[in-house]
Amino acid sequence: MKVARFRHDEVIRFGIVDGADLVVLAGDPLFAGFDTTGERVPLADAVLLAPVIPRSKVVCVGKNYRDHAAEMGGEAPAEPLLFLKPNTSVIGPGDVIVRPRQSERTDFEGELAVVIGRVAKDVSAEKADEYVFGYTVANDVTARDLQRSDGQWSRAKGFDTFCPLGPVIETEFDLDGGARIVSRVNGEVRQDGPISDMVHSVADIVAYASAAFTLLPGDVILTGTPAGIGPFVAGDTVEVEITGIGVLRNTARDA
Ligand code: MG
Repeated sequence: MKVARFRHDEVIRFGIVDGADLVVLAGDPLFAGFDTTGERVPLADAVLLAPVIPRSKVVCVGKNYRDHAAEMGGEAPAEPLLFLKPNTSVIGPGDVIVRPRQSERTDFEGELAVVIGRVAKDVSAEKADEYVFGYTVANDVTARDLQRSDGQWSRAKGFDTFCPLGPVIETEFDLDGGARIVSRVNGEVRQDGPISDMVHSVADIVAYASAAFTLLPGDVILTGTPAGIGPFVAGDTVEVEITGIGVLRNTARDA
């Protein structure tokens, strides 16, 4: 099912998408399960928000698609290359990405995002699926020039608004179902790659990350981007779509 976090009548709640409606949940399903209030809200009357606010961190994997590693001038690392984005970088569908004045080149990177559902530490790849609440769409926005000049990636990938997430969390997403990541700028396709091209699988990434960090419910893992990354400018609309989850759409402006 598709879980949304939404605002309606100035109140923020969670719901399950059912046709053109949201079935309202009694609480945050990550912590309170799927009890419903009996209420329905038309999707058209709701503003969808980031479906999860990571409780402690966004863990990201760099160069996890060979064709993207090649376009960056290298090979995919033998082990997952991890970095973090602060949870303050998260925005939701429809929110504005702010291009920082410190950067001349801000890029989109369409990615599959894993939402962690249970406290995970030293989880095996075989059991990783038990710790996954669901999947959503992410844009790993990157100040490409600062990524190069800083030498490490915290600032370049950590600016406010640099982690759009949404529009929903799909709890039954099929990793082996042929899903593709498609990114568009102003409607023009820039990235189109199958998630099956990932070098390190979701299970391996959860295991590898949880061997380093305790993952908390609501933490999010971005699993890397296929080839075709590129810049966007103020006024552009950037979309990332993943089959079976939905379209994450944001516009951009300059700071
Ligand atoms: Mg990335």
